[in-house]
Amino acid sequence: MLIAGNWKMNTDLPSARALAAGVRESAADAEGVEVLVCPPFVLLDGVYQILQGSNVKVGGQTLHPEDEGAFTGEVSAQMLRSVGCSHVIVGHSERRALFGETDEDVHARVRQALDNDLVPVLCVGETLDQRRGGTQQKVVAEQLEKALEGAELASGSDIVVAYEPVWAIGTGETATPEQAQSMHAFARKWLKDRFTDELAADICILYGGSMKPHNAEELLSQDDVDGGLIGGASLKASDFGAIIEHAVHLAG
Ligand code: PEP
Repeated sequence: MLIAGNWKMNTDLPSARALAAGVRESAADAEGVEVLVCPPFVLLDGVYQILQGSNVKVGGQTLHPEDEGAFTGEVSAQMLRSVGCSHVIVGHSERRALFGETDEDVHARVRQALDNDLVPVLCVGETLDQRRGGTQQKVVAEQLEKALEGAELASGSDIVVAYEPVWAIGTGETATPEQAQSMHAFARKWLKDRFTDELAADICILYGGSMKPHNAEELLSQDDVDGGLIGGASLKASDFGAIIEHAVHLAG
C-alpha cells in the first residue's frame, strides 16, 4: 500500500516544513504502508531535510526529459535525485490539460525517470466526456500503451500507476468504489498482458480523485486499489494522517 501526497503549487518553506513534520509523525508507525510526499520543486530540499531518516519518501511533481541544458525553468531527474527524491509524478492531468503535455511527452518523462532510478508515478484517467461516452477503458489503455512503449521493468516496484479520473480531481466528486475497482482491474489486466502476471501483481495502482478521510477506507479496501494519490487532503497533516491510518488498518 502506498499513500502519496501531491502538494501541487501550495505551501511555502515554513508551512511545507511544518506539514512535512506532521506527516513524519503520522507515518512513524505506518507499518506495511509506504508514504510519499511531492512538494513543489523549490521546497524539496527543505522538506527532505525534515523527512530524512524517516519512512516518508519525497518525490517531484514532474521532470524534464533531457539530462541538462538550455531549458529555462525546467528541472532534471538528476536535480530531483540530488535533493532526495525517489519518485516523480508523470503525466498528471493538470500537466496534460494546463501545460500541453502530450502522450509523447509523458512517454519521454517516464523513460527519463526509469533511466535515472526514479520511480515514475504515471497518472492516467479519463475526462467526464470520455466517461459519459463510455470510452474510459480505451482512453486509459491508450495512455498506458503510449507512456510505457518500449519500457522494460525489472520489478513491479520500478513504477507506480495512478488511476485518476479527471472529473474527480479537486472536484469533491469521487469515483464510487465499484468504478475505481473496475478501472483498476482493467489497468491490472493491461499490465499483465504488457509485462508478466507476477510483475503486474507487484505494481502499485493508486486511486486519485478527491480521496478524503471519510471515503478512503472504502476506496482502499478494493482488491486492485493499492493506495492513493491525494491532492487537497494531503495539505492538512491530520487529514493525510487519517488516510494513512486507514491504509495501515487495511494493510495489517
Ligand atoms: C491529484 O491532484 O492527483 C488529486 C487526486 O487531487 P485531489 O485529491 O484534490 O482530488
